[in-house]
Amino acid sequence: MNKFLEELIELNRLERKLEELKPVETGIKAPLNKLEKKKKSLEERLEKLEEEIKNVKLKKSKNELSIQELKEKLQNIEEKQHKVKSEKEFKALQIEEELAREQIEGANDEIARFEKILEQKEEEKQELLKEIEKTEAEITLTKVDVDKKLETVEKQKEEIYKNKDKLIKEMNPNIYRFYEKIKRWAGISAVTPIKKQACSGCNMRINDKIFSEVIKGEEIITCPHCGRVLFVEKEELNEEK
Ligand SMILES: [Zn+2]
Repeated sequence: MNKFLEELIELNRLERKLEELKPVETGIKAPLNKLEKKKKSLEERLEKLEEEIKNVKLKKSKNELSIQELKEKLQNIEEKQHKVKSEKEFKALQIEEELAREQIEGANDEIARFEKILEQKEEEKQELLKEIEKTEAEITLTKVDVDKKLETVEKQKEEIYKNKDKLIKEMNPNIYRFYEKIKRWAGISAVTPIKKQACSGCNMRINDKIFSEVIKGEEIITCPHCGRVLFVEKEELNEEK
């Protein structure tokens, strides 16, 4: 086989291998990403919960403040009651006093209600914190496992890159540039096998004359339809014979 063609096929094979390792890496990282996502959503829930707690506390303290004001009002009423001259005035103050006491009672009920809500929310918060801690522990353990697996892939990649660099250095620079040019639009399928006498890059049929030239492998032949470099895999050749 033509040496340049052989090199092109080998270069493309190495690059395809690198490409194949990408989904492998994604697959290895997947469980870790899932846990990180879970942690993030738990933290978002916690943030929202803390905001809710803050709001309930604010409502509670508003009621406490209004009780304080109502108590001062009651004191005022009491002082006035000592000074009133008519029964009518006294009655009016009595009504005011009753109203203030009712308001205090209402505010106290509200405070009790808010305290119950706070208790529930605090409980929820504690559970969330526990869940976050658990998830963080899982992340730590998973990371050890993921890093180990990634390291193996990284070694494979290094080996492929080493071979690729070596090959590129040995290659004719013009042939390499020619390949890079096709790769710009064809990507990793810049060198593509003929399958069932069709270019596997564009799926168009290759005529008998070109097909037999490709089988000979004496020179670099590109697909007349799409321009990718063609070759025939050994298995395909055996089938032809
Ligand atoms: Zn083609």
